[in-house]
Amino acid sequence: MKLICIGRNYTDHIKELENEKPTDPVVFLKPDTSILLKKQPFFIPDFSDDVHYEVEVLVKINKVGKHIDKKFAHKYYDEIGLGIDFTARDLQAQLKAKGLPWEKAKAFDGAAVIGKWVPKSEFQNINSINFSLKKNEEVVQSANTELMLWKIDELIEYVSKYFTLKIGDIIFTGTPAGVGKVFGEDQLKGYLEGIEMFSIKIK
Ligand code: ZN
Repeated sequence: MKLICIGRNYTDHIKELENEKPTDPVVFLKPDTSILLKKQPFFIPDFSDDVHYEVEVLVKINKVGKHIDKKFAHKYYDEIGLGIDFTARDLQAQLKAKGLPWEKAKAFDGAAVIGKWVPKSEFQNINSINFSLKKNEEVVQSANTELMLWKIDELIEYVSKYFTLKIGDIIFTGTPAGVGKVFGEDQLKGYLEGIEMFSIKIK
């Protein structure tokens, strides 16, 4: 399985990183080895002094598909989740400056947190889901999926032009503003409509 990640999908986060607004979604992949194992802490890797949390809404693909039209995209998932796209921001900045791929900054072991899954049917409208991240009991990121530049079904249409989507693949739909550095002993908790989806200790 693969993790397909979207960058720069919320205007306020594009502003905070002083990035240009893209004309197409920014897409990158993480391998399955980047998934943080359940109940394990996240260990800050020794190659970075500036690892950031990025809370993101997740979509789990339940059917094989390619060239999926956005009209039919809703048939390709029935669970929504929440996770973290951990990013070694210092390393990413170096790679970006050189025009190099981001994988070392984004796809390292443990860089993908995947929380619980909720049936899509529990949401009235998947384009209006509140989600948030607390760091040490303080809300550091809070947004709603209506603020996405490309909505979930549009992302499925877009990424399936390039990659065949397979059962179990997960789409990380991008992070809103409020990203920040993690420190040893931090506790990160993610919420979808107020319900706790994950709780991660930083080491
Ligand atoms: Zn991200």
